[in-house]
Amino acid sequence: MTKSVDVVVVGAGLAGLSCAHVLSRRAVDVLVCEARDRVGGRTDSAVVDGETVDLGGQFLGPGQDRAYALAADLGIPVFPTHTDGFHLAEDAAGRIRRFRGLVPRLGALSLLDFAQAEARFERLARTVDVEAPWRSPRADLLDSQTLAVWIRRTLRTAGGRQLFTTATRLLWACEPSELSLLHALFYARAAGSLRTVMATENGAQQDLLDGGAHALAVGLADRLGDRIRLRAPVSRIAHGGDGATVTVESGDTIRARRVVVALPPALAGRITYDPPLPAARDSLTQRLAMGATIKCMIVYAEPFWRSAGLSGHALSLPGPVAALADSSSPSSPHGILTGVLEGATARHLGTRPAAERKSLVLAELTRLFGPQAAHPAAYIERDWTAEPYTRGAYAALFPPGTWTQHGPALRTPIGPIHWAGTETATHWYGYMDGAIRSGESAAAAINP
Ligand SMILES: Cc1cc2nc3c(=O)[nH]c(=O)nc-3n(C[C@H](O)[C@H](O)[C@H](O)COP(=O)(O)OP(=O)(O)OC[C@H]3O[C@@H](n4cnc5c(N)ncnc54)[C@H](O)[C@@H]3O)c2cc1C
Repeated sequence: MTKSVDVVVVGAGLAGLSCAHVLSRRAVDVLVCEARDRVGGRTDSAVVDGETVDLGGQFLGPGQDRAYALAADLGIPVFPTHTDGFHLAEDAAGRIRRFRGLVPRLGALSLLDFAQAEARFERLARTVDVEAPWRSPRADLLDSQTLAVWIRRTLRTAGGRQLFTTATRLLWACEPSELSLLHALFYARAAGSLRTVMATENGAQQDLLDGGAHALAVGLADRLGDRIRLRAPVSRIAHGGDGATVTVESGDTIRARRVVVALPPALAGRITYDPPLPAARDSLTQRLAMGATIKCMIVYAEPFWRSAGLSGHALSLPGPVAALADSSSPSSPHGILTGVLEGATARHLGTRPAAERKSLVLAELTRLFGPQAAHPAAYIERDWTAEPYTRGAYAALFPPGTWTQHGPALRTPIGPIHWAGTETATHWYGYMDGAIRSGESAAAAINP
């Protein structure tokens, strides 16, 4: 079957859906091809024990204006993440302490060390040009080292290093050795600051969406109706001066004047392009592996930790879950904890049976919150590295040398092919807000 439209959008994540939504409002004839049997990509939800839980993207925070605007437009209420009470921190020796604020009490020297390193990181981040990180002052130097090297050189105490390493795993779902310092700085700058991405209050974890963040994608899809084709993985894009022919795995083809590829770069690189894409673009996609996450949602009959004066937020060095957050909704009696296995832990435990992972996570929760934590009403997890149409999360990781050597190929269109996806965002890279912005920018650049 051959069909003809103005624009084909590849991928019905928040980027592709936002792009198609803007184009359809401009009366552009658009068709979205989505590989899965659902929309939303790295956002998804499940109903467990009568409760909707987010298996992917979840929190919003100040500055994520496009995500809040979309929620308001779709009539999805937002509520603040519960933070009242003491947070818990479990140190490497298994000692559990209560704390308030962002950083646990680790000992005066370690805290001072961490604070100085954070201030230094923020100063460096302010020098990064988010539109073109490779043009930042001293970009070559910043992009020639991993974050691990910077942590080793900058922090002097074992406690401070451990805390920065844990923060790395939480933010990027990888080990510090996998990431270029320039990328870490860019990521923080694209969100405002490192503090913003780490924090709940006044930070990226401040708010939650009633009914889950996946509702954003579902709401956009409802508006797009039959302009979305599910179970339609794009396998080939033939392109030239007069447009493109997009082939889906069933063999169907679609002719279009323009194509917007709204996929993580690693997956965009798996499509066959005819003629092949320039070396600069392919070299980029060869390098951009995804982080590793297994998200665990634990639902209890009630948020029992609150009666003990606890917030439900916790940091744990022994893990396996490095950080936990209370994501219970005020409109429900249930208590919900969110935890994510990240980086090396996710890769290792991803090879173990699901029952073993669950018992390790529940053992940690029991250490932290007591025996009631051992008996949730429901437990559900999603391994994003195992998802064939995502292959990891939260987002693509730039290793050393990639921004400076290959960065310009990230957003530059090639003939009729445009690029979108949170990885192309200059603000809130890696976040739902970045995905929405990237889709809207791609739509603005298209005049089919
Ligand atoms: C566990 C987890 C927690 C997160 N937490 C947060 C959070 O709290 N806050 C936040 O803002 N962000 C969070 N994120 C990140 C956020 O979810 C993503 O940045 C965002 O959803 C990415 O959207 P996207 O449209 O750019 O990409 P994707 O959502 O990856 O969309 C790409 C789409 O393309 C489809 N596709 C792939 N290959 C093909 C093909 N060949 N043909 C057709 N279709 C194809 C995929 O199925 C997918 O639907 C989290 C992500 C995860 C996984």
